[in-house]
Order: sequence, then structure tokens, then C-alpha cells
Amino acid sequence: MTTRITHLIGHSSWEGTAERTSEVYNPATGEVTGTLDLASKALVDEVVAQAAEAAKEWGQTSIARRTRVLFAFRELLESRKGEIAKAIVAEHGKTYPDAVGEINRGLEVVEFACGIGHITKGGYSENVSTQIDAYSILQPLGVVGVISPFNFPAMVPLWFVPVAVACGNAVVIKPSEKDPTAVNLIADLWREAGLPDRVMNVVHGDKEAVDALLDNPQVKSISFVGSTPIARYVYERGVMAGKRVQALGGAKNHMLVLPDADLDLAADAAVNAGFGAAGERCMAISALLAVDSVADELIAKITERMAQLTTGEGNGEGVDMGPLVTKAHLDKVRGYVDAGVSEGAELVVDGRSGEWVGGTPDGFFLLPTLFDKVTPPMSIYTDEIFGPVLSVVRVGSYDEGLRLINDNPFGNGTTIFTNDGGAARRFQNEVQVGMVGINVPIPTPMAYYSFGGWKNSLFGDTHAHGMEGVHFFTKTKAVTARWLDPSHGGLNLGFPQND
Ligand code: NAD
Repeated sequence: MTTRITHLIGHSSWEGTAERTSEVYNPATGEVTGTLDLASKALVDEVVAQAAEAAKEWGQTSIARRTRVLFAFRELLESRKGEIAKAIVAEHGKTYPDAVGEINRGLEVVEFACGIGHITKGGYSENVSTQIDAYSILQPLGVVGVISPFNFPAMVPLWFVPVAVACGNAVVIKPSEKDPTAVNLIADLWREAGLPDRVMNVVHGDKEAVDALLDNPQVKSISFVGSTPIARYVYERGVMAGKRVQALGGAKNHMLVLPDADLDLAADAAVNAGFGAAGERCMAISALLAVDSVADELIAKITERMAQLTTGEGNGEGVDMGPLVTKAHLDKVRGYVDAGVSEGAELVVDGRSGEWVGGTPDGFFLLPTLFDKVTPPMSIYTDEIFGPVLSVVRVGSYDEGLRLINDNPFGNGTTIFTNDGGAARRFQNEVQVGMVGINVPIPTPMAYYSFGGWKNSLFGDTHAHGMEGVHFFTKTKAVTARWLDPSHGGLNLGFPQND
């Protein structure tokens, strides 16, 4: 039995018949569990037109009323997160606590957006010229498009939707076709929270739906998260269509371990950030730069910890790591492990064989894998693997490690492990990466800061959520006002100057 998963147009499920569908899998068993309707361009255009109508009224709804919807949504999300997390486990494969964790990080953005009255305040200057006042107001864009990846089916949509809605926009979101159910469940909570019909809309689909959003002139902005080649494509096509675009791309995150680091802490962090969510996190650590003098000891500690990990079905008791998302992705990641061996890296822990708990033999499992003596030309170093594969590159010094990080075309996250405050301070200043950790493995910013990488990890100049998110989802208008005073009449064709 497979479940049909379809679009949510405002408060209603789509009742049409899809010309094209795709399959949704349970990654722990390899079974098809769902059939997803894929939207045509015509359907996307229809939904956008309806969202544009809804945006007119929602954009004029008072801040007080919008705030109440956000608070109600926050309560609903908090109380229903278990149900959403189960859907994530079933379609993505990550463990249940990890799925709850991503919803909790999304909740933080909702809480940030609850302060919409404060964060959308404009400025006001009295008497900028004699008896003239100037002020700025932030207005919604209208319809905004969101396109999200498979790896955080709840958190990434929650980076954007609460801020966009709080700012008075209507949203059309196209989630990943690999794990589409979480967004439908979340959209239903917006309805229950009192968000008017058609302010939040979900269209499922693939390239056709993405292109329709990119080309539709009524869609005023695109917030995209996914791999770098698609992020670049979305950015270029969206900008050519005259939209504002924030397109967050892939990553190759490095962790630099200096000789004075607490090696137990560093080993814990490398394992947690390398293998959490089976390495399918944009902030996963995949390249571990270990200074020579401590590399052997650090690798021994990491290996010891890896032996304690349990891989298995995400709902299983005591399971640390689940399967990969699809068979195609499993094959790709295994291919990288094979390539690492043939390119001459030392395979310290081979995850290609071994046992997992729960699921079936057809599940998309790869166990945690560790390479040592990886060198920069190898594909396991150059490419984003997005799987449970940690590569140790031995470096002679801080400077060599820093150079590798800065030469890397990605710039999403990085971290340094050291007990030397001066070295850490130098690192935060010198490293060319958007999000930096100091003795913290996954430096994901809080909701009131903004999330985003540099270089090939982000196209556009605006990061997600925080005040950058608010600016992205609003247009600033500057008003200059004079209330008539007879002493200031008269003709003057010169350019306005202040006095
Ligand atoms: P993906 O690029 O394959 O897909 C992302 C979205 O783009 C999906 O909605 C998908 O349907 C759509 N898409 C895919 N191919 C397309 C095409 N040819 N034309 C138009 N649209 C297309 O990414 P993914 O595999 O779902 O997610 C994993 C990637 O996302 C990794 O590279 C990861 O690093 C990245 N990611 C980045 C961040 C970040 O904050 N920078 C966060 C999460 C994930």
C-alpha cells in the first residue's frame, strides 16, 4: 500500500489528477511508501495567481493579528512535532531524536518571527529639513517562492516561511520530492493557527515546478537551498527574471585540530558532526585537518568512538545513525569510498560492510567510514560526499590547515579545536567561511543571527532568517512628509535641498 501525497493549495488538498508522479521510499527498507503528485507549470501558475490575491489582504492585515497567528502556530508546532518527526524518519531515514532536533531549530525561527512587531519597525526622523519629517516603512513583497532540499525537510522550510509570512507575504513552497510529507503536515498547522486561505501553499514537483516558480513574474523572490550546481542555476535564472534570490548551496566543511586541543572533545565532535544524520547535513564535518603531531592519537580516539555507534532504522532504540536517503545516493556515496581506496587513501574503518539493526537488507545503509592520509587532489577531498565518510588530511601547521580551508571553493561552515585563544581569534578573523565554530562542531547560528555560507555555498547576498531574512522578505520605502505650512509655499524648480 502506498500513500498518495499531493499539493496543498491553501487550506485544501489538490483534487486533480497528476500527469506525472514520483515515488517516495522508506530508506530503511527500500520500499516504496508514497506516490507524489508532480506539479505542472500550469498548476504552479494557477497557485501563484491565487496566492497573489491572498497576499493583498494578508499584507494589509495588522501586525497584531499576524503576531497572533504566529504564536498559535508556534504552540501547534511544539505540540505536534512528534508526528512530523515520525514522517521525517519514515521518508528521510534520520533518527527520531535528530528529526525532533531539526524541528526544534525551526521552532526557534518561529519564535524569532513572533517578534515581528519589533523586527519590522522602520525609522523616523523629525525635522530632516525645516518642518519636514522622513521615515521608512517595510512592506511585503507579495508572493515569495521557497524551494527546499531533502536533508532538512522541516527545518529548512521553517528558516523562511515564518519570516516571510510574518512580514505579510504569501508563500508557495516546493519541498524536496524525496521527503515531501513534513511540509504538508506543517502547512496544515498554519491553517489551524488561523492563517488565511492561500497564504501558505505547497506545490510538489521537480524541475518543471522549480522553473515555473523562477519564471513567473508574480513570484517576487526565491529562497532556495540545495546543491551548488542547482543553487547557481536557480540564482542565475531567478535574477534574469528580475527577482531577488537567495540560493544556498553545498558544502565541504573542515575541522582543524591544533596540537593543544582537548583531543577527547575533538574526537567526540568529529564523530558527532561527521556521522550525525549519516553525514547528510550541510554543516557536516567531512574533512578533518589534524596537525601531524596529534593525528595518530586523534584517529585512535575517533576509531574507538566509531566502534560504539549503532547504525539502523531511525526509530530503533539506541540507534545513532540511519540510512542514506535513496538507493541512488547510497550508490554515489559508496562510489566515493571505492574511489578513495583506489586513489590511495588509507581506509581505517570500512563502512561498506557490517550490520545494521532494524530495516531490511534492502535498506540504503552505509556504516560510518573513516579515511586517513587523504590528500587534496583525491575526489573524497574535493567533492561534497554528503554521506557518513570522514576524511583525515594531515597538515604540518595551522597555516597549512587555514590555506586548505581558504582555497576550498565552498565556504559554508568550519571549526577549529584548540585551547589557544589567540589562535582561535586569528582563525575567526582569517578564515574565508560564513559560519565559524570554536571548539563547537556544528556552528549553526541562532534564529536571530542569519544562516549562510560564502563562496560556492551561497549565491546572492542575503542569508536565511534573522534580520537578513526580514530584509529579504520586505521592501523598504522611504517617505518624506511635510504637513502644509503657509510659510513654505512658492515655486522652486531646483533639486530639493534641505535647510
Ligand atoms: P538538490 O539540489 O538535488 O535539490 C534541492 C531542490 O532543488 C529540490 O527541491 C529539488 O527538487 C530541486 N531540484 C533538483 N534538481 C533540479 C533541477 N535540475 N532544476 C531545478 N530544480 C531542481 O539538493 P538535495 O540533494 O535535495 O539536498 C542536498 C544538498 O543541499 C547538499 O548539497 C547540501 O549541502 C545542500 N544544503 C545546503 C544547505 C545550506 O544551508 N547551504 C542546507 C541544506 C542542504
